[in-house]
Amino acid sequence: MLKSHSCGELNKEHVGVRVTLAGWVDRRRDHGALIFIDLRDGKGIVQLVFNPEVSGQCHQIADGMRNEYVIRAGGEVALRPPGTENPKMPTGDIEVIVHDVEILNPSKTPPFYINDETEVEENLRLRYRYLDLRRRRMRENLLLRHRVIKFIRDFLDAREFIEVETPILIKSTPEGARDYLVPSRLHPGKFYALPQSPQQLKQLLMVAGVEKYFQIARCFRDEDSRADRQPEFTQLDLEMSYVEEEDILNLLEELFVSMMETLKPELRVTKPFPRLSYADAMACYGTDKPDLRFGLEIRDLSDIVAQSEFSVFRSAVAGGGEVKGIYAPGCGNYTRRQLDELNKLVLGLGAGGLVTISLGTSAGNLSDLTIEMVKSVAAKYFTLDQVKQMAQRLGANMGDLLLIIAGESKRVDMVLGELRQEMGHRLNLADPNLFAFAFVQNFPLLRWDEEEGRWDSEHHPFTTPWGEDIPLLDTAPEKVRGRHYDFVCNGYEIGGGSIRIHTAELQRKVFRLLGYSDEEMDIRFGHMLEAFEYGAPPHGGIALGLDRIVMLLAGEETIREVIAFPKTQSATDLTFNAPSTVTEKQLAELHLSLREEE
Ligand code: ASP
Repeated sequence: MLKSHSCGELNKEHVGVRVTLAGWVDRRRDHGALIFIDLRDGKGIVQLVFNPEVSGQCHQIADGMRNEYVIRAGGEVALRPPGTENPKMPTGDIEVIVHDVEILNPSKTPPFYINDETEVEENLRLRYRYLDLRRRRMRENLLLRHRVIKFIRDFLDAREFIEVETPILIKSTPEGARDYLVPSRLHPGKFYALPQSPQQLKQLLMVAGVEKYFQIARCFRDEDSRADRQPEFTQLDLEMSYVEEEDILNLLEELFVSMMETLKPELRVTKPFPRLSYADAMACYGTDKPDLRFGLEIRDLSDIVAQSEFSVFRSAVAGGGEVKGIYAPGCGNYTRRQLDELNKLVLGLGAGGLVTISLGTSAGNLSDLTIEMVKSVAAKYFTLDQVKQMAQRLGANMGDLLLIIAGESKRVDMVLGELRQEMGHRLNLADPNLFAFAFVQNFPLLRWDEEEGRWDSEHHPFTTPWGEDIPLLDTAPEKVRGRHYDFVCNGYEIGGGSIRIHTAELQRKVFRLLGYSDEEMDIRFGHMLEAFEYGAPPHGGIALGLDRIVMLLAGEETIREVIAFPKTQSATDLTFNAPSTVTEKQLAELHLSLREEE
């Protein structure tokens, strides 16, 4: 090695030791007689001292050093003179008195400072990602990602899972996105598709007798740039034979509890992980990926308001709709402007409007509430008793604010779900150190696609319906429940999976419902249907979004912060400048010609 120690590992115990270090100039300070260089490598930073009385030549070389020069320095570790210690630096008690030095490679002035304090525009960071990754925060993110993956591999290995690599050049797999296509040179006019996930391959591995499979798998989905998605991303993909839902969910619970306890002991995990039904999640939180770090659950007020004089609410209920609400603790004193903001939010989400009821401006017991304290445009239509009943139902007290929406039930749930999230955020109710994992189950198997005028899978076509619901596939497909489960954490969906169909007959039936003709089925999925005729064991699995999981553990806001070389929101790689044009020759070899854009 060109060095004997890492910068960051040196401490008082090394005093008197001769070391050779190599790294980047993080900062250079010229104090006239002495030059100080903060030297940075992958493990941290240490202070080098260049004293002309120790070596005139070294001092002269140091004079020419600039940020990001790569240097190698030999010297002796010494205690810093009393009073000059830096308690903020892990190596702040010591410094290295340099005896010999060499510049290994100079550097142009970098486009931004390589430190964590300076905010740098993201496109510039992505353009010079190799410099951005030198920053401590990014290095820690890469390290955390490595540790998470290593933990997962060790955990699953100890439970007799084997990691199997599956092809990247394959055929379209339906996960609901557009495929990335790769033209074939050897087969003119034909294309491979990059896998949207290894779904079919892992199922074929079950038929092949790999009873416990996993893979840290790259997936590719060509989606329009949506919030924080990447065209390629990484899944922990997992599949097991002879299992039911709880076998998979328990395994995940055990994996995540032990991973959090090992890698992030400073964070708290709520255990056991709750299992919610899709219907309950929608009804209580207005979303299938609720943030369970705080309450503010949505409650139905229809029966109470049906008795009131408020015609808006009464007619909503009479018309088959619902009136539901949440409460905002301590927000009884919200100003007109604050209330207007909330109203705007719900209008933007397609609700008819928001009815707010303030339960007074200061905290207190609900029993002390008087009708004079109640403030609302609809106040005159409610009796004090009705207001108290609503408050009680929602869990509110004096000084709180009730937020109520009326209308068609799905819309009401969705809007209140967003409002709940917004209030949780405004009131800082979600503890950033708490990880509230949960499983959501009992999704409908199918959803009606208005545009296409046909049924579509809620998850994907390989999910099996509940046994007792199978007859409903012919009579009432909307009532069929799928054996699908989602894994959620703090308002994010971090994974999803299901128990699968394992007979060709049922698989054909589901494909038929989804609108495939027998011929189309055979062309696209013939390999699966055939494999299911050779003794396919019952099986099920799940895939987790690894990027998002590492993002949450790292406390980052986007998955780009935990991917070494991510793409921008518009799917470009700014370091490589990809995608890019190719030559005529390359196109010709692939039997392609470019069309003029219409
Ligand atoms: N392949 C599915 C997905 O990527 C997950 C699964 O069902 O295992 O969403």
